[in-house]
Amino acid sequence: IPQEYQTALPILKKIEDAGFEAYFVGGSVRDVLLGHPIHDVDIATSAFPVEIKEIFPRTIDVGIEHGTVLVLDGDEQYEITTFRTESAYQDFRRPDHVEFVRSLEEDLKRRDFTINAFALKEDGEIVDLFDGLVDLENKVLRAVGNPHERFHEDALRMMRGLRFVSQLGFQLEAETFASIYENHALLEKISVERINIEFIKLLLGRYRQAGLEMFVETECYIYCPQLRRFGEGLLRFSELTDRQIEKEIHAWVLLIDQLGLAETEIRPFMKAWKCSNEIIRTTQAVFTGLQFRKTQMFTKQLLYTLGEEQAILTEELLPYFGLDNDVVAVQEQYHQLPIHSLHDLAISGHDLLAHVKRKPGKWMKEILTLCEQAVVEQVIPNEKKELLNYAAAAIEKKEC
Ligand code: ATP
Ligand code: MG
Repeated sequence: IPQEYQTALPILKKIEDAGFEAYFVGGSVRDVLLGHPIHDVDIATSAFPVEIKEIFPRTIDVGIEHGTVLVLDGDEQYEITTFRTESAYQDFRRPDHVEFVRSLEEDLKRRDFTINAFALKEDGEIVDLFDGLVDLENKVLRAVGNPHERFHEDALRMMRGLRFVSQLGFQLEAETFASIYENHALLEKISVERINIEFIKLLLGRYRQAGLEMFVETECYIYCPQLRRFGEGLLRFSELTDRQIEKEIHAWVLLIDQLGLAETEIRPFMKAWKCSNEIIRTTQAVFTGLQFRKTQMFTKQLLYTLGEEQAILTEELLPYFGLDNDVVAVQEQYHQLPIHSLHDLAISGHDLLAHVKRKPGKWMKEILTLCEQAVVEQVIPNEKKELLNYAAAAIEKKEC
């Protein structure tokens, strides 16, 4: 039993002492059984939310209408969710109603895959109603119950299935696979934000190759934003290398690179995926940096423009193309730049005005940029006098 469960055991005990059932459930049980590290500990209980709030002094209502109460215990916090069934799925998305129930079995039945439907009791007993242990042993991903019905209830489960293939290297069980293929078009009903989360997890999986192959074979990709014409590109991406992708930005850059998108296509592509502006900007910068860095070393100017973080992100991508990289050297080179932003420049617009006695205007920004470049490229030192002379000369040259 891992440390995370040890520290949470008193929570289960307290619920049981109050006369209810409580179990560890969800992905953490699966990961414990696989010997993987766990991130979030989910607890399911027969107690209703109000009853949980009576048992624990410090709670937060994070999703009480879904039956989830956050229990604070020292520095730890636990999501405790009442056993529930989900009924009346319309429009292939999340359920309209959740109904709280007292039966663990009902709760486990609504879960997506057999390996996600274990419950682990305080005494170490594993509740395994759908032979998930056998599937775990055989590395098989199988929908709980009738896959066709389950994907109709919530089409996102198909994307979850594909990302588990990528994360775990499991095979889709034949009927589960057939059913995803059959229902792929239902993904259109799912919000892009939810698909995005699963897609990124798929791209970051240890078994990305297998995950992407299934993504293409089941034709789910056709119903994801902007990918309709990229079946081959996605397969090319899957064959890029076996190296796992560790960061979301890397995933986007590599995907865009392998799909053969042009720089100007990045923004609309990522907007369609509902990526944040910050992620889009970083992806654009790293993509541009990468195209350059694939064939030559960073210039001072490019390092300066990218900034340290983006330069490192770029350098880290080289091994995916079979190229050597040296992140430490890039860091050193960056730190050796004479300035790191316009702020560091030894003159300001103010100094410029005082020195050349012209009216303020657009020319100031232009001249400052010229000075900035000259300093970055070490054409002149970052000293006020030198810069003002350089600026005056540049203005004169422009005017004649
Ligand atoms: P991760 O390790 O990425 O957190 P997870 O399996 O724990 O994976 P969560 O989204 O944290 O995924 O969900 C916790 C559990 O809730 C799942 O293991 C599964 O039992 C259930 N679950 C989550 N989403 C769905 C869904 N769309 N349909 C059915 N059950 C779901
Ligand atoms: Mg989880």
